[in-house]
Amino acid sequence: MRSLLTLIACCCVVSAAAGTEKDPLLSPSTKSAVVGAAGVTASMAAASGASSASSAASSAPPRKLTEREKEAQAEADLTARIQERLAIMRANQAARVAAAAKAKKQAAVKEAAVAAIPKVYSNVWSYEGETGPANWGKINPAWAKCGSGNRQSPIDLRDGMKVDLEQITFDYHPSSFNVTDNGHTVQVMVGSGNFLTVGNRTYELIQFHFHRPSEERINGKGFEMVVHMVHKDPEGRIAMLALLLERGKPQPVIQTVWNNLPLEKFDTAAPSEPLDPQDLLPAKREYYTFMGSMTTPPCNEGVLWLVMKEPLQASPQQMALFSRLYPLNARPVQPSGGRIIKESN
Ligand SMILES: [Zn+2]
Repeated sequence: MRSLLTLIACCCVVSAAAGTEKDPLLSPSTKSAVVGAAGVTASMAAASGASSASSAASSAPPRKLTEREKEAQAEADLTARIQERLAIMRANQAARVAAAAKAKKQAAVKEAAVAAIPKVYSNVWSYEGETGPANWGKINPAWAKCGSGNRQSPIDLRDGMKVDLEQITFDYHPSSFNVTDNGHTVQVMVGSGNFLTVGNRTYELIQFHFHRPSEERINGKGFEMVVHMVHKDPEGRIAMLALLLERGKPQPVIQTVWNNLPLEKFDTAAPSEPLDPQDLLPAKREYYTFMGSMTTPPCNEGVLWLVMKEPLQASPQQMALFSRLYPLNARPVQPSGGRIIKESN
C-alpha cells in the first residue's frame, strides 16, 4: 500500500508538472515563471557545459547569474515546491477516495451475501410456553393461518343444525401398520386400501393419532382423549374423522398400538401383525360435520371434519399409558366464527 501511494504520488508529481499549462491553481505569472525557470535551467546547463568546456580549454571563471536570472530561479524553486505539495495533497485525496470506494464496495458485497442467505425459520412447536399454540402463527410465516385463519380447529360443537345427514360409508380392512412417537403424539401409519366415502367423495385413510385431552368439545364438554383418523382424497383434500374416548373397557386396536410403541422417540416400529381400523369405529354412526383446519402447524384449512357422536371406550390403564408420554397435547378450542355445524338427527 505504501509503495502504491508513493507511486501515485510520483505519477501525480509528473502529471502536475506536465499539466502546468492547464492547472487552474497556478496564476498566469506563476506559469510563465515555471516556463521561464525551465528555460533558465536549460540555459544554465548549457552555460555550465559551455563554461566547463571553456574552462578546460582556457580556465575562464564561470559567468555570474544576473539579478533577473536569480529571481527567476528562486521563483521556479518556489513553484516546484508548490507543485510538489499540491501533488502530495492530490495523491492523499485520491488515496482517501479509493479507500472509501473500496470500503463501500466491500460493504455492498457483504450485504449482498447476507441477503442471499435464505431466512431460516424455526419448525419447533409445542403445546406450552413460548412455542405453544398462542404463538404458532408467529413462529414461521408458513404457519400464519394458525394465528390469522378464520376456519381453525378444534371448536366447541354447539348449536348444530340437526338434519338427515347421509351415512358415512367405511371400507376398512385389516392392514399393515407402523407406530411412531413423533414428539407431538403417537402416530400410526396405516397400509393402503382403507376408504371412507361421504358427500360423493372417497378419501383414503393415511394415519391416525391421539390427543389428550380431546381437542373437540361438545356443548362445552371435553373428553379424556380423542383419536384423529386422517383421510385424503386424490386431489389432496383432507377428511378428518374424530373418535372421542371415554373411560370404560379396554379398546383392542389401541392395545395393539400400545403393544408396539417404539422404545425411543422418532423411532418407528413396524410389527408383522395387522391392525383393523374397522375395530375403532363406534356402533352408532351419527356425527357432527363442519369445515375446519389441521389442529397442528401449519394449520391448513379446508379440512372436512367428521366427529362421531358416540364416544369410544378405553381402559383407565390404556389412558394412563398415553398420559405418561403426552399428559397434554391438545390445541385449545378456536373461535367458530359463525361456521355452520351440521349434526345427525
Ligand atoms: Zn390430531
